[in-house]
Amino acid sequence: MLTYDKHYYDGAWQTSTATETIAVVSSATEEAIARVPRGTAEDVDRAVKAARRGFESWRRLSVEERAQWLEKLAAAMKTRAPQIAEAIAHEVGTALGFATKVQAEFPIMMIGMNAKFIRDIKLEEELGNSIVVKEPIGVVGCVTPWNYPLHQIVCKIAPAFAAGCTVVLKPAEMAPLSAFFLAEAAHEIGLPNGVFNLVSGSGRVVGEAIVGHPEVDMVSFTGSLQAGRRIASVAGDGIKKVTLELGGKSAFVVLDDAPFDKAIPAGVNNCMQNSGQTCSAWTRMIVPRSRHDEAVELAKAQLAKLTLGDPFDKNTRLGPLASAGQRDTVLEYIEKGKNEGAQLVAGGGKPAQLPKGFYVEPTIFANVDNKMTVAQEEIFGPVLSIIPYDSDDQAIAIANDSPYGLAGGVWAGTQERAMDVAKQMRTGQVDINGGRFNVLAPFGGYKKSGIGREIGPLAVEEFFQLKSIQR
Ligand code: NAP
Ligand code: MG
Repeated sequence: MLTYDKHYYDGAWQTSTATETIAVVSSATEEAIARVPRGTAEDVDRAVKAARRGFESWRRLSVEERAQWLEKLAAAMKTRAPQIAEAIAHEVGTALGFATKVQAEFPIMMIGMNAKFIRDIKLEEELGNSIVVKEPIGVVGCVTPWNYPLHQIVCKIAPAFAAGCTVVLKPAEMAPLSAFFLAEAAHEIGLPNGVFNLVSGSGRVVGEAIVGHPEVDMVSFTGSLQAGRRIASVAGDGIKKVTLELGGKSAFVVLDDAPFDKAIPAGVNNCMQNSGQTCSAWTRMIVPRSRHDEAVELAKAQLAKLTLGDPFDKNTRLGPLASAGQRDTVLEYIEKGKNEGAQLVAGGGKPAQLPKGFYVEPTIFANVDNKMTVAQEEIFGPVLSIIPYDSDDQAIAIANDSPYGLAGGVWAGTQERAMDVAKQMRTGQVDINGGRFNVLAPFGGYKKSGIGREIGPLAVEEFFQLKSIQR
């Protein structure tokens, strides 16, 4: 049992003003594996003040010095990759192999990449009689979710540090451990005081205290639409910049000339990744009505290959969901799907062979109408809706008929045809004909999927203020 009883700020482990702790529960065993402090507004105030003091010297370091700190931090985290993967396999239920690559090694690599980004960014530009200077925005309050815990943290802190900002982080209650490992790594390398500050606790108490604190200049949030609304209004009240990475209900449009044997399995894998607990998951598969039944058969065959089980078992592709609450929400959505007339063709409940752990069978609904709840709301579990269409224009209209616009996919017989559809989708990312995730490309949402972008060199720009100096 890992026990943390302190927050980390001002370059040191600090006793919490709280007496209560939060249990971190394993998704597979349902047992507590760790405890962290349930912080208070007082802890936040101290951490924010440390971040403010830290900012005054951090912003004055040269770009090269900050870049080197990022590289040192990446190196210190690298030695912790196995520990991170194991913790997240417990917290989120991610299968260990996938957790190692995607939950641990990938975000660690991104820390180091931000060193390169900042070295390459031009911080001053001449415009007529002005010099336009990019300056760090200040103290950034970061609030993150549990589904890709370290990734979401790194998407904020690495570009913030690169830009010259300092950070106060509140990780998700359900998956806070990688944030503590990050604090240990920052401490080990001697990262200057007040640059990285961590307060654990609930969103309502610690999260709101960060967002509302007058010394926080910008809020960077990833999480649900509901919390995002609240955070945007609290931040708006303080006239703070806010970036929001919210939910999704992304569409995968399969055109009639696509190679179905490749496209459909790729679509299923995308939807089911991390047991569907992925904001960008293609949860709506939009297929030509004439090939609907063929798509269903291929999807079922692919699903059968995604073994559900203990995240620590080598054969497992899909682990349990992150919490009992998450499992129950997903099961309720599955019931709604059945009641509203979607055709259940695979899964649909709790797996009988896995009585312990928050498991839900990967599930496919066919002949779904896009107006149904399962096609409109973010389920955040392993549930795919297959939706038939009659023309390309209708396919695009269905894809865009969503309050969200985070990601999406198109597969067609040619690049041109796929590109044409991709450009008509109102969404921040589209992968065409199997295009792979690109760590240089900005990531973020249209519509209710958010405001602002993360990942890659363009994400660093979010953490700048512009100053115009006229001569
Ligand atoms: P959530 O309930 O919105 O929580 C996210 C974080 O916000 C948690 O740390 C939470 O604290 C905190 N929080 C909640 N209410 C708050 C408030 N009023 N003020 C300040 N902080 C508050 O989301 P989740 O259930 O953890 O994560 C799932 C959601 O995140 C999904 O909707 C998913 O699509 C979205 N997501 C989006 C992206 C993206 O890049 N667009 C990436 C990943 C996930 P607690 O720890 O107490 O809950
Ligand atoms: Mg939550």
